[in-house]
Amino acid sequence: MINKKLQIAIFDLTDCEGCELQLLNLKDKLLKLAEIADIPIWRLAKTPTEFGPFDVALIEGTPMSRDDIKLAKKVRENSKIVVAVGACAHLGGIPAAVDEKKRDKFLKEVYGDKYKSKAVAAKPLSAYIHVNHFIHGCPIDLDEAERVIVDILMDKNPVSPSHPVCLECKERENPCLLLKSEPCQGPITEGGCKAVCPSNGLRCWGCQGPVKYANFGAMEKNLERLGFKDQTENIMNIFSKERDTK
Ligand code: SF4
Ligand code: SF4
Ligand code: SF4
Repeated sequence: MINKKLQIAIFDLTDCEGCELQLLNLKDKLLKLAEIADIPIWRLAKTPTEFGPFDVALIEGTPMSRDDIKLAKKVRENSKIVVAVGACAHLGGIPAAVDEKKRDKFLKEVYGDKYKSKAVAAKPLSAYIHVNHFIHGCPIDLDEAERVIVDILMDKNPVSPSHPVCLECKERENPCLLLKSEPCQGPITEGGCKAVCPSNGLRCWGCQGPVKYANFGAMEKNLERLGFKDQTENIMNIFSKERDTK
């Protein structure tokens, strides 16, 4: 009997490629993966061979062009399991954090009045195709990437943390940024990143996506109480994109 290796392909849409670089940081674990699986397509690492079928497709990036959307659909048709990798694929990422009403204004400021953008509105990958699993973060956390990939290979359903970033932040005894009137979104954001931002004095902007049972109403009230009434919509934008697709 021929023992066929698993086919795991890696794709990127519109993104900064930071999550793919994180995958490269798996180093020896990536080499171990290569012992049991072929990686027929990975633009950063090799020239692609034929397209599909794939056992697992990892997709990084926000679908922001018609070509991106076409590729995402083609990958879905040819893959048993699709994994959205990073906040761009999971939430729409940084492009989705921009207020759509102001996108034209920003494009003109950066590229000039004559520039005609071909980009579509930034949405999560799940707005276009069914996504089986997610690896969260911007960039992804290596421990989570390893756990999710191993679970998939073992035919298990990866389980996301059900606690917010605040729990991991408190474990590290960080002073709370909300008490300094910083609009930290730790209370509504899924943990798993080891609270890396507040541990380094930066507010959490929610790159892991909303935690299960997130209390958006309470967060919005808190932001207003702290004096961010005018900016609340912008601050929460990344979450509203995710909520739209549920
Ligand atoms: S999630 Fe962040 S690190 Fe990953 S591709 Fe998008 S912008 Fe880059
Ligand atoms: S700093 Fe942010 S993550 Fe940490 S406890 Fe306060 S709100 Fe939560
Ligand atoms: S603290 Fe917030 S923004 Fe920073 S990595 Fe964690 S979830 Fe992302």
